[in-house]
Amino acid sequence: MIGAPGAGKGTQAGLIAEQFGIAHIASGDLLRRHITEGTTTGRTVEGYVNKGELVPDAIIMDMLRKPVMAASEAGGYVLDGFPRTVEQAEAAYRTAGSLGVGVQIAIHLDVPEDELIRRMLARARGADDTEDVIRHRINVYEQKTRPLLDYYAQRELLIQVNGARPVSEVTWSIVVQLQRAFKRPPALDQMQLTADRAVA
Ligand code: AMP
Repeated sequence: MIGAPGAGKGTQAGLIAEQFGIAHIASGDLLRRHITEGTTTGRTVEGYVNKGELVPDAIIMDMLRKPVMAASEAGGYVLDGFPRTVEQAEAAYRTAGSLGVGVQIAIHLDVPEDELIRRMLARARGADDTEDVIRHRINVYEQKTRPLLDYYAQRELLIQVNGARPVSEVTWSIVVQLQRAFKRPPALDQMQLTADRAVA
């Protein structure tokens, strides 16, 4: 699930996971939990998260490995907030290939910038939700995460969704497109992945 901060990734990833009976794994939620619990990882990442900077890849990969493996064995997952950069996507491919798990479909939740800022200010979740940090996070998204859209469009199916609509309409649009996509015969190199029903 790819989208700028405030695009509704968390909400939609949760609903889609529920709909398909698979796990919802959110890198931002896991990081915030580490920070709240004061773990070693939490203390390392706190500065990055509060400033709206990306946390170093190695920390993210270590943190996600276990939950992704467990969810994959249990039937699949929606990844929310990862990958965030083309480098992370490539690292994920390298790891996933050797473990037999992987991304099948990327979903882009598209929301205009003024709506993103309005939503983020309205929910003000923590230290990373001041207006300056919100603008910075959107810039980080534009520079580092948006290139992922081309990356996925070239490698597999990229589902484009207009996220500036009521929650249930957005969910419906994602579900319909996913159902359509899963009915399609998979490309040869995706064959063994279809059983996992993995979505990111
Ligand atoms: P999110 O809840 O997905 O908006 O993430 C909140 C914050 O966690 C981001 O602003 C980053 O500081 C950090 N973060 C979450 N996911 C990643 C990731 N895949 N790579 C690097 N940093 C991340």
